[in-house]
Amino acid sequence: PTVDTGLAWNHRFADLGPAFHTRLPPTPLPAPYPVAHSPEVARLLGLDPAWLATDDALQLFSGNALPAGGDTLASVYSGHQFGVWAGQLGDGRALLLGETEQGLEIQLKGAGRTPYSRMGDGRAVLRSSIREFLCSEAMHALGIPTTRALCLMGSPAPVLRESVETAAVLTRVAPSFIRFGHFEHFAARGQTTELRQLADYVIDRYYPACRTTPDFGGNAYAALLQAVAQRTAELIAQWQAVGFCHGVMNTDNMSILGLTIDYGPFQFLDTFAPSHICNHSDTQGRYAFDRQPSVAYWNLLCLGQALHPLAGEVDTIRAALQAYPRTFQDALARRLQAKLGLSSPHEGDEALVQALLTLLAQDGVDHPIFWRRLAHAVDSGDFSPVGALFSNRAAWAAWLLSYSERLALVDKALAAKLMLKTNPKFVLRNHVAEQAIRAAARGDMAPLHTVQRLLAHPFDEHPGHDAWADFPPDWAAHLAISCSS
Ligand code: AMP
Ligand code: MG
Ligand code: MG
Repeated sequence: PTVDTGLAWNHRFADLGPAFHTRLPPTPLPAPYPVAHSPEVARLLGLDPAWLATDDALQLFSGNALPAGGDTLASVYSGHQFGVWAGQLGDGRALLLGETEQGLEIQLKGAGRTPYSRMGDGRAVLRSSIREFLCSEAMHALGIPTTRALCLMGSPAPVLRESVETAAVLTRVAPSFIRFGHFEHFAARGQTTELRQLADYVIDRYYPACRTTPDFGGNAYAALLQAVAQRTAELIAQWQAVGFCHGVMNTDNMSILGLTIDYGPFQFLDTFAPSHICNHSDTQGRYAFDRQPSVAYWNLLCLGQALHPLAGEVDTIRAALQAYPRTFQDALARRLQAKLGLSSPHEGDEALVQALLTLLAQDGVDHPIFWRRLAHAVDSGDFSPVGALFSNRAAWAAWLLSYSERLALVDKALAAKLMLKTNPKFVLRNHVAEQAIRAAARGDMAPLHTVQRLLAHPFDEHPGHDAWADFPPDWAAHLAISCSS
């Protein structure tokens, strides 16, 4: 069956040709039921949010019907996983439906096996799909570039992970799902024609300024590498500032647009532990929180190597990649200063920030709660709720003294205002997601929908919902999230 969405589809990625993908339909799922949808993403696509509650939408976004005018396909890519070349990967459980007239691509994730599924079953479980649904929209509301989530449909079909779970299909949306690994794929095979075709497509569609910049003597491919390095740097700076740990920063999970993509074992830090490893399967800590900035750079080196046949001399590539450390340092400093309410830099700010981070780490202070309380403290002038978070009160008092001296140089009301819209009250911590998941597994979607609403406006107070912004409960201390999803 087909469903007419009223969308006028384009298929620019499909038009790249068969070297880039395999056309195939989704595999149907029994007895689908709606779990959640994002009215905001529906509107972005020109869809009526109410339509998402219809049976047509349910059939379409569970993979049981094809979109009229769609052209469903799985794309091929390769990549480095945990630092090791993994060869061919690809959309093992994602299917592209096409592109809307707004230039947004729509993908089903969990819609069945593809030629790139390898040992996988092509499915996604409800648990991780809820995590991805909530986190995509939460990241967007935090102002962090990300793929979006249109809707989530469940099915009682059993899916085997560490235990038997049930299936779900997440519909995600982005201008492009192209990864560093797409470039690595053609480079590794010596398919320079396809490599150039892909690079031209990405430049023309997403980075047109690379064609006209005088940088690199007019070499658009080197300019592309530089632009991707910049966007990646801005992205990682935002992750570090908010305390987001991605968990699986393989090169096939790095968006060419600098979006957060492929939510798996991600975690928002509870206590500030810089070397925290959120992915239970990451035994070496390659993707530990404080290694994310250098891993992103390593991944960019892989992209640089892949672009080598197009971008010219090694020196050119090296120069283009320099955009990463340069942009990252500035972007992170700017973000951390904003968290402190400091909108313009001043001598000594860096030392002030570093001293604070050291203190937070030493005392294992709760990261989101610290920053939110600090924002309220600057607003009210009462810092005791912040001090209560520290065991080393003397060190805190010393830091507060230097911070107070710095604050004396700025308009405190403005600083507090900046802080309250920089330091979120509501963050999708593991225990928050887990409560939504456990209820949804019982058929109760209310907590999921509540959390979704709070995270859509994470800087608002939402009176009556403080429990969702509280410390993690004891039962959540041992939640282990692995790659298996
Ligand atoms: P990830 O580490 O989740 O980014 O996945 C790495 C590769 O495995 C990608 O090519 C995915 O498409 C594929 N993959 C992950 N889970 C599954 C699954 N359940 N079925 C098929 N392919 C999968
Ligand atoms: Mg992936
Ligand atoms: Mg994944």
